[in-house]
Amino acid sequence: MADVIVVGSGPNGLSAALTLARAGADVTVLEAQDEIGGGTRTVQPFGDGILVDHCAAIHPMAHQSPALAGLDAHGLRWAWPEIDAAHPLDDGPAALLRRSVDATAAGLGRDGARWRLMFGAPSRAYDRLAGDILGPVVHLPRHPLLMARFGAPTVLPATLLSRVFRTDAARALFLGTTAHAMRPLTEVVSSAIGVGILTAGHHDGWAVAVGGTQAITAAMAAALVDLGGKIETGVEVTALSQLPRTDAVLLNLAPGAALRLYGDQLPAGTRRAYRRHRPGPAAFKVDLAVESGVPWSDTAVGRAGTVHLSGGPEEIVANERAVARGRLPERPFVLVGQQHVADPTRSRGDVHPIYAYAHVPAGYDGDATDAVIAQIERFAPGLRERIVDQHVTTPAQFTAQNANYVGGDILTGAKSPGALLLGPRPGRNPYRTGVRGVYLCSAAAPPGPGAHGMVGYRAAQLAIRDLHLA
Ligand SMILES: Cc1cc2nc3c(=O)[nH]c(=O)nc-3n(C[C@H](O)[C@H](O)[C@H](O)COP(=O)(O)OP(=O)(O)OC[C@H]3O[C@@H](n4cnc5c(N)ncnc54)[C@H](O)[C@@H]3O)c2cc1C
Repeated sequence: MADVIVVGSGPNGLSAALTLARAGADVTVLEAQDEIGGGTRTVQPFGDGILVDHCAAIHPMAHQSPALAGLDAHGLRWAWPEIDAAHPLDDGPAALLRRSVDATAAGLGRDGARWRLMFGAPSRAYDRLAGDILGPVVHLPRHPLLMARFGAPTVLPATLLSRVFRTDAARALFLGTTAHAMRPLTEVVSSAIGVGILTAGHHDGWAVAVGGTQAITAAMAAALVDLGGKIETGVEVTALSQLPRTDAVLLNLAPGAALRLYGDQLPAGTRRAYRRHRPGPAAFKVDLAVESGVPWSDTAVGRAGTVHLSGGPEEIVANERAVARGRLPERPFVLVGQQHVADPTRSRGDVHPIYAYAHVPAGYDGDATDAVIAQIERFAPGLRERIVDQHVTTPAQFTAQNANYVGGDILTGAKSPGALLLGPRPGRNPYRTGVRGVYLCSAAAPPGPGAHGMVGYRAAQLAIRDLHLA
């Protein structure tokens, strides 16, 4: 039997461990923190009964992820809000994203037909496309024509692609989703992450995990333990001498940490690439306990699981540009999560968890609490009177709670065009480190950030082939 160590228990670490255990390997996961899960945890900062996702909250890509398949047997259940996402505007009703392309299009007036044209065919084919999307960008696609149709627009800057639409509502809905990549939206390939999320979401919806994102971690851990896998917490791996001799090591780490661990053992090309890997902008999170929920001016927004707050198209573009240049805008992009509308088990009576974070510059050390609350209140006057409690997570605290979030970067590396296409190191296989039996399996590798577990799954498949387990 092959012995395998996985360093880090984020969704990719756990999915790598589970995939290898299913193939018959003897797997041990080592986790630095006292709790497993990395960015896939749920906390209770307001006392018992109010469940707040620490990081990952919304899971449009999770459904087609083979890494998470079969976890219903271990208690994982999904729930969907009536409205996937909303983008409130200062003048006029909010733009609303629904799972159905037709229902979304119906709310977008003269841009409805264009929305349908952009997302209708790719989202209908998403179950066939997912295998190609949820892996390395540079590869031989299984469905070349479908992939070409999906991939062509993703190369464009989001600002350029948004000009397909004529109304502020459709443009804001599109740009607000592309802003998840936390990149200047004028950059080439800045459409890619947003187009991927929208295409997947129109097929599968923007699901939340019942009982909090922690349920994903708990289900993966239970499945792993059932197969004989072991998990050790409170073990921060900083030196190779801590690792027993094994047949394979999978690193659920940021490239900088992998470089510190393996140093000169890595080939020069990998060392150069990992050294060049840069953190992206950070998140400043303000979780709120709100009596009777947020008093949105447009009441439809209260039925959305996710709310993008950044005003109209020009403001969204200016905000992401400013943050990339190291400046906090007066009214930054704020993502609000209202997971309780899909999953009422997260609330205590009429007090609901409101999850909100702003895009802030990398390593930001100021206090953006007021900016976050003011941005919500801009579209929900009277919010402050309903706040019962609040809890802040600064970029430095994100790093302290998970070393992969360098400078508060929640995406494990800036999603620049180079990083998206060739990260974390150029070559045929992004999961190889160049050291025999050692693989990188964090969100720094394709298909990138998210609680889908696909990086770990892909890296583990490679290890399984190398170890002749299959
Ligand atoms: C505020 C926020 C909001 C987000 N929203 C979403 C969302 O809505 N949907 C979504 O899909 N994704 C979201 N994400 C992103 C998602 O959480 C990450 O992309 C995902 O968790 C990355 O998974 P991973 O397995 O690569 O690593 P991580 O989840 O980062 O886990 C890495 C693990 O490795 C451990 N570790 C690090 N160094 C060591 C060491 N030296 N020794 C041992 N262990 C170590 C860490 O403690 C951690 O447990 C969000 C993230 C944040 C922070």
